[in-house]
Amino acid sequence: MRIDILTLFPEMFEGVLAASILGKAREKGAVVINTVNFRDFALDKHRTVDDVPYGGGGGMVLKPEPIFAAVEHVLADSPSRAPRILMMTPQGETFTQAKAEQLAQEKHLILICGHYEGFDERIREHLVTDELSIGDYVLTGGEIPAMAVVDCVVRLLPGVLGNERSAAADSFSTGLLEYPQYTRPASFRGWDVPDILLSGHHANIEEWRNRQALYRTWLRRPDLLERRPLDEKQKRWIREFEQGIKP
Ligand code: SAM
Repeated sequence: MRIDILTLFPEMFEGVLAASILGKAREKGAVVINTVNFRDFALDKHRTVDDVPYGGGGGMVLKPEPIFAAVEHVLADSPSRAPRILMMTPQGETFTQAKAEQLAQEKHLILICGHYEGFDERIREHLVTDELSIGDYVLTGGEIPAMAVVDCVVRLLPGVLGNERSAAADSFSTGLLEYPQYTRPASFRGWDVPDILLSGHHANIEEWRNRQALYRTWLRRPDLLERRPLDEKQKRWIREFEQGIKP
């Protein structure tokens, strides 16, 4: 996969893209990530990327010309016939694990980070394929949202996580929140790891985890269960939770 991030602040990405799993994914060649400063595509000698809004009001709006030119520049050697052009905006579709899984199938993603008051509307109307929000709050720029999207997508690419199973069992991948996890020591300050996890009985452990995942989701995110078909066993477990029986 290739990812191009269009930003006015490429330096913000240096640490994030070099460290930990993202850094290793790039070293291994699982993904190529470039940052592109769209100020380099401004048309005037002052390298202007923003201007006052038509109709008045506060703040500055990102002009269309530098962003169109920067996107067209990266499209010129795109590895894909239909790259996804993602605008970071609080007005976009909320970014989810399902969306990340969809984007992880693509060969080329182009992310556009806004700043100031946001984008000239013609960028939204005529350039982007998707508008993504990372939640119902407003940040100063699209860089942190872009980092969240890139991190989430790249960890799904083949070979990026050491243990392929770990992404599949994560919260949301299964449609549920993940079950509780424990590691050594088996007893810490008098708080013990559930016996079943020490039993070595894989089928029972699997059953305990499925039930715990369902319980946790029922308790914390019942909205996730509304969108998901449940089998007979899960329906029975939920009736038990409703009667106050904890797993
Ligand atoms: N005036 C815009 C509005 O009300 O929709 C908000 C602009 S915000 C201050 C500046 C930039 O930060 C946006 O263009 C976008 O790129 C980014 N941004 C802020 N919050 C975001 C969020 N929740 N998700 C994605 N991008 C966000």
